[in-house]
Amino acid sequence: MQNDNTFTTPVLTDINDDSFVKAYQQFIKHGDFISLTRQFEQGLIQTGASNQLSFSVNNAKVSLLDIGVLLVEPISSAKPSKSIVISSGIHGNETAPIEIVQQLISDMVAQKTQVKHRTLFIMGHPVAMNIAKRFQTENLNRLFCGKHKGIAPCFEKDRAEKLETYVSDFFNAGCTKDTSANSIDSEVTNYHYDLHTAIRNSKHEKFAIYPYQGDKPWDKEQLSFMAACGVNTILFGHGPTGTFSYYSSANFSAHAFTVELGKVRPFGENNMANFSAMTEKLTALICDEELLLNSFDNKDFNLYTALGDITKVSDNFKLFIDDAASNFTDYPVDTLLSTDTGEEYRTTQPGESIVFPNAKVGNGQRAVLMVVPTSLS
Ligand SMILES: [Zn+2]
Repeated sequence: MQNDNTFTTPVLTDINDDSFVKAYQQFIKHGDFISLTRQFEQGLIQTGASNQLSFSVNNAKVSLLDIGVLLVEPISSAKPSKSIVISSGIHGNETAPIEIVQQLISDMVAQKTQVKHRTLFIMGHPVAMNIAKRFQTENLNRLFCGKHKGIAPCFEKDRAEKLETYVSDFFNAGCTKDTSANSIDSEVTNYHYDLHTAIRNSKHEKFAIYPYQGDKPWDKEQLSFMAACGVNTILFGHGPTGTFSYYSSANFSAHAFTVELGKVRPFGENNMANFSAMTEKLTALICDEELLLNSFDNKDFNLYTALGDITKVSDNFKLFIDDAASNFTDYPVDTLLSTDTGEEYRTTQPGESIVFPNAKVGNGQRAVLMVVPTSLS
């Protein structure tokens, strides 16, 4: 863990400041959420639904809860059946997901689409977006589930805590709203798709991490939804983590995924056609259009389960995996992958593959996640 001793309390924006009022009016008109988010990166003084930054569009109430956090609530007498979080930019330089969320928002503002389910759009890390880095001080996607409490003050510590609050308020309000005499709260289904792009190449360009479910079965319809979004490689989580998607899955039983959509590129350099399936299916989901999913079939997927970690134990640790090795590269059985004081790691299973290799971690930390192909019965 890094400490940033230079951290000073962020200068938050007052929503009555002229520059903010002007930018907010521009946003309502043109729907450029990236621009509004980048201009006031540190956040707002007045946050939450009570700050009165709301407007109506196409039969939905849209509320800016904080910088990068936009709540959409359909105005309808029907009880909402879905609460959907679509988040991006938890790592600031992962621009394609941010541009996907931008597209969904600008289509709504331009009234090209009508959002019919409660939706929370998030651009997670405006400060890192502006410096075109993954993060400033701490990896934000390891700080959820309260893990932010244990670190020194930094932008990410504050932001993780706030994002947890916005998401939990969002899911809680979805459950308790409109509870007429004989309706049951559990009729609302929660979703959270946390969109990312990866640092390294991957043998499977797009893949998703399905958060650890404990005793619950993996949801095949959700896997079919991922496939329809263009993501047919799934890595099943093997334990609790501090990721944003795990937070929603573990605390609100949300159908949730961390979705990796390819390689990191700067703003404007993404080929958005490459993400059209994702954008179309997310649009269909929030607009209550038919999703047209294929039923689940193992042969349509590359499914992986975790075998374990290669952990760096001491300074003598050596990793025999090329720096440029792609995620999901597999090695023949009995390949020597690492050595450390008094031990070595050799592959033991057919199809054993690497994910997220990083030799530059501290002692006691994971250097590689080892996975093997699996299928669902
Ligand atoms: Zn990421």
